[in-house]
Amino acid sequence: MGPLDTDTLLSVYLALSGLTALFTLAGGWTTRKPGLWLWSGAFLASLLSQAIRPGIAELWGVQASKPPGHLGGVLQALLMLAGMHAFLGRRIPWLGMALVFGAMALFSFTLLATGQTLWWSLSITQAVSGLIMARAAWLAWQARPPGGSGALALMGVVLGLAALVALARAASILPIGASIAQLDEANEHWLMATLLLVVSEGFAMLVLVNSSLRDEVAKLADFDPLTGLLNRRGLRSRMERLMRPPTADPSASDVAVALLDLDEFKLINDRFGHQVGDEVLAEVARRLHLGAGSGDLVARTGGEEFMLVWTAASSDAEATGEQLRTLVAGSPVPSQAGEVGVTASVGIATGPWQGGVSFETLVGRADHALYAAKRAGRNRVVMG
Ligand code: GH3
Ligand code: MG
Ligand code: MG
Repeated sequence: MGPLDTDTLLSVYLALSGLTALFTLAGGWTTRKPGLWLWSGAFLASLLSQAIRPGIAELWGVQASKPPGHLGGVLQALLMLAGMHAFLGRRIPWLGMALVFGAMALFSFTLLATGQTLWWSLSITQAVSGLIMARAAWLAWQARPPGGSGALALMGVVLGLAALVALARAASILPIGASIAQLDEANEHWLMATLLLVVSEGFAMLVLVNSSLRDEVAKLADFDPLTGLLNRRGLRSRMERLMRPPTADPSASDVAVALLDLDEFKLINDRFGHQVGDEVLAEVARRLHLGAGSGDLVARTGGEEFMLVWTAASSDAEATGEQLRTLVAGSPVPSQAGEVGVTASVGIATGPWQGGVSFETLVGRADHALYAAKRAGRNRVVMG
């Protein structure tokens, strides 16, 4: 490969691994995304295991410097896998990983101690690293969300390539046939491939973290953090999607909008404190969410105000409203201050699903009905 000899490539590889370890570490620090620490550790493991080899060679001879390098590859793959588990919010199989690493260390050092050829050590550790990388790739590929940004798919593909390269290398150096000189010559090609993989892995991680942050922002914009329900914006965008003719269910001819406002909620805050008020809001939200059908929309549209949208015959809407009111007021809410009784007023408006009546009109009518329920003494349902 001309002037790009193994030593030069190795230096470039070490520099790139170091840089990638550093910026994954910085990424972990700034985004707090689980997994990035471990991925940073993966690059660091590979860097350190190569960097200490000259020192070991000087102290204990060239042969002794080989197993640490081989094991560094296994450690790198294991940390990549651990990082993928962490990123996806899964439990990290530390015990299994420790057992694999222990077995590989035992194997390599036994070969060294008994004076056997260390090509076996390289071949087997590369094969095991390849299988571990394949597992990480598979995890990423399987977890890619339908209609997602493709970032996990990219990560899966890059890790899959890394797995293929490691497996191919393992096969190519099986200690049969080729002379040591030939194998040494091939080394620079493998180094070049590994070097490109480090860059690709770093890039795929960057894309993955970026896409995951973007998903988080989208979620924050559409959901209420206290209750986990949709917020007003999230409800609106889903209503718009729902009211488009092709997705609307023609069998459910009417749409009902309920506005539910907790009664005298200020008193709960005043009496028990804001924290207990928050607990009550979260529990009311949980009850409404559990009570709603799968296609129904439930949102927290204001401080202690909720909106529900569902499709049904208009004649059933009042009964549904009564069910919602009972869900809230039927039993007191357990809280750190003991049981807190809470009631709700509900205003409901219904209209034909696609019959020209706008969502805004329905909400306006439900709001009037809610106001009437409050004036009539609260803890009741009024149809608008
Ligand atoms: P009404 O029966 O007329 O609805 O009386 P209300 O006290 O429920 O209505 P009002 O609009 O006077 O007060 C609403 C209260 O809800 C005031 C506000 O402090 C409280 N609130 C709004 N958002 C939150 C929140 O996120 N957490 C808590 N704990 N309280 C909230
Ligand atoms: Mg209220
Ligand atoms: Mg209110």
